Amino acid sequence: MKLLGNFQFIAEFIVPYKVNGEKKALSSFLITRLKSDILFIETRYTMEKIFSYIDSHSEDMIADLRRIIRIPSVMGEQEDGAPFGKNAADALAEMLDICRGAGLSVRNIDGYVGTADFYPTSEIPQLGILCHMDVVPAGTGWSVPPFDLTEKDGKLFGRGAIDDKGPAIAALYAVKAVKESGMPLRKNLRLIFGTNEENGSADLAYYRKKESLPEMLFTPDGEYPVINGEKGMLRISYRAETGKSIEALKGGMMINAVPEYAEAILCGVTEDISRFENIFDGITFSTEQIGGKLKITARGKSAHASTPETGANAVTALLSVAAELCGDPAVSALARLFPYGETDGASVGIKCADEVSGGLTTVLSVISCEGGILEAKQDVRFPLNKTSGEIISALEKAVDGTGLELRADMISEPHYVPESSEFVQKLLSVYERVTGEKGYCVAIGGGTYVHDTVGGVAFGAEFPGEENHMHGADEFITRKSLIKNAKIFAAAIVELCT
Ligand SMILES: [Zn+2]
Repeated sequence: MKLLGNFQFIAEFIVPYKVNGEKKALSSFLITRLKSDILFIETRYTMEKIFSYIDSHSEDMIADLRRIIRIPSVMGEQEDGAPFGKNAADALAEMLDICRGAGLSVRNIDGYVGTADFYPTSEIPQLGILCHMDVVPAGTGWSVPPFDLTEKDGKLFGRGAIDDKGPAIAALYAVKAVKESGMPLRKNLRLIFGTNEENGSADLAYYRKKESLPEMLFTPDGEYPVINGEKGMLRISYRAETGKSIEALKGGMMINAVPEYAEAILCGVTEDISRFENIFDGITFSTEQIGGKLKITARGKSAHASTPETGANAVTALLSVAAELCGDPAVSALARLFPYGETDGASVGIKCADEVSGGLTTVLSVISCEGGILEAKQDVRFPLNKTSGEIISALEKAVDGTGLELRADMISEPHYVPESSEFVQKLLSVYERVTGEKGYCVAIGGGTYVHDTVGGVAFGAEFPGEENHMHGADEFITRKSLIKNAKIFAAAIVELCT
């Protein structure tokens, strides 16, 4: 419709000008308008060329994706030039080889990170697209070989298909398509390939020490439309001495998950615990008497720490029961600060929320007690309007006088890029134009690859509601999604760099 409007504009104003043959010069307004209309038509035409290049090169795209999926780039032992193992370094080298073949100017930064620039330059390009070549281990349960690409019913299976090798190849083909179209870019762009995203992003930390990241940066290692807010994160440890009534306590394996299992051995307790049966929704207890000691196990439901309300915390349920039965002061203090079912941190004094990212969430996720030393670990995801310092001092106040010692093991401040920024607005409009879906911003409780950058956002590659078995067995990206991603990235490059 817009195009028709432009032609109408030309017909109404320019043609009469010629017909009347008046010597009057076109007003500068008309010239500007005409220039912008021609540019619009040209861009429209070039975008069609770019999209048709992507459509007609989908087989090449899949062949290149197969090349890198075949390298099982799971983190391994450090070697010379391979800080995260030989396979991760090999996958990076292979990707850079493919980029070199596409006429990009490539660099391998000590096996940590690789770059591929649109124009060769000594200056930092203005746009960066950040992907990673490392993958999580295959695990079990695959119906196809995990380290090969298998196409079935429009799905491309293989470890890394969606996270993040598929998106990396889509980004490369976006660049290739723009290059082929001959459209000149006023701003340069860089593809950046990391090798340690799945194990702490030490790759990016290394790269940032060597040089700055592009001012406009997005990673297709998250979700569409745009993730512009990531909560702050804290990992806290508590330590205290216990009395003789607690022989052992154990529960939770990972700090970033709601624990589904916990057990305790209490001395001198013979009581039946049936009175606790229906108090903790979602938890099942079982007991066993072992020579005057009571062993209690609690089973609940696991969940990711960024959505703790969907789980049932076996550790906090067990703590409450243990506190009631044996009255140990340290156990009672923990049980009081972390009551079962509470995930907003109210009892430990940190409940807070903001409009963009929502409420704070927290999980007491790992617990152990051996030889009279009780240790517990807590995961906290706090809103954008708070600092780690504010949360830590609130926690310190809450434990004051309980005998619990507190230590912050990991501190990560919130990450936020305003929705109103020109960069985010342009990404949203590109998403709307290519997909026909409504664009909007999302704030999440987890951290993405750009968490520690300035101004970076996650843009793709998962579409809302789409299935892909990320990190699981039979991970896949659909052929359709791969192509749509490439088109979105190409449109983003044109929007941001011309
Ligand atoms: Zn990833």
